[in-house]
Amino acid sequence: MSADTNRGLVLIVEDERAISDLLRLYLSREGFGVHVAEDGQSALVAARSMHPSAIVLDVGLPILDGTEVCRQLRAEGNWVPILFCTARDDEVDRVLGLELGADDYITKPFSPREVVARVKSVVRRASLIAPDEAPLVLGPVQVDLVTRRVTVDGDPVALTATEFDLLAHLMEHPGRVYTREHLLSEVWGYAAVVGTRTVDVHVAQVRGKLGDASPIRTVRGVGYSAEAPDAP
Ligand code: CA
Repeated sequence: MSADTNRGLVLIVEDERAISDLLRLYLSREGFGVHVAEDGQSALVAARSMHPSAIVLDVGLPILDGTEVCRQLRAEGNWVPILFCTARDDEVDRVLGLELGADDYITKPFSPREVVARVKSVVRRASLIAPDEAPLVLGPVQVDLVTRRVTVDGDPVALTATEFDLLAHLMEHPGRVYTREHLLSEVWGYAAVVGTRTVDVHVAQVRGKLGDASPIRTVRGVGYSAEAPDAP
């Protein structure tokens, strides 16, 4: 491996050689080390032995599929950031149904640049969290930054990676009001391609999942904040 692989190792799990070759090219150009596994079983072996900074994980794989690889790693307490690659809508549903909250996904066909941007984003997010960071709590909502799990009254709620980051960002400073532009640059990071309406869409999704427990308040004409529920 060359000396400029200083951004950490990315494990690509992909059974289509044309795709893994392309991703290897783009990721190594950005200074990532790259290892490719072509089935789920060798992906598990590589993930356990090589301690990658991130995994780009195809869902449809020989031997063991991508969701099962993720499930096993999480069961072992391995919280390496995982970017899923899905080929079909039913695969998206399976990934979202994992209730791991830790994952981002991208749908094929994707641009390799977009994959690189997402990998940088998940690695950056993971590196910001200290291993003993205390959970964020507002009323019944608890956000664990280390395991990236969200619970309401102790019951887990499955959020996508972006929904999680949005909620965590707001809850880190309760009462502080954030503009949509601020949230785009802080949460999305690679936001140039999306508009501020994206923030509204994701806020609506988080509210839909948290229901009445949602701490997110709309501040008319400004943006959003997270606040504890009113005292009785
Ligand atoms: Ca595949």
